[in-house]
Amino acid sequence: MNTMSSMKRSLLSPCGINCRVCIAYLREKNKCPGCRTNTSPKPITRAQCKIKNCNELQRDTLKFCFDCKKFPCARMKQMDKRYRTKYNMSTIENLKNIKKLGISEFIKNEKIRWTCSQCGGTICVHRGYCYDCGKK
Ligand SMILES: [Zn+2]
Repeated sequence: MNTMSSMKRSLLSPCGINCRVCIAYLREKNKCPGCRTNTSPKPITRAQCKIKNCNELQRDTLKFCFDCKKFPCARMKQMDKRYRTKYNMSTIENLKNIKKLGISEFIKNEKIRWTCSQCGGTICVHRGYCYDCGKK
């Protein structure tokens, strides 16, 4: 079962997505280890993601996009819009909350938000229902 108890800080992407609730992380086939993982070959999300490969982040001085002077950039706004429309989640709002509350507090809220009330599993942001038992 995908419980949120093992949630690590490294599982928060620079663009404000909690890898724990991402379909690429939850699935069993071609599972992504999280977009901050530096394995070789790089996970597809890391290799192809325009945000992950953004010059500002590549310098490794930025932990999250909100550290960037261009935040929120056009690319970020585009992604935020897509996520708000399709998945009912705002990545910009997530980033603002991480900045405001700190990572620990943000993760605490994420656990509440994405834990299935029926089985204790994880609700997948991309599917919109519990990955473990299917509850909406
Ligand atoms: Zn469930």
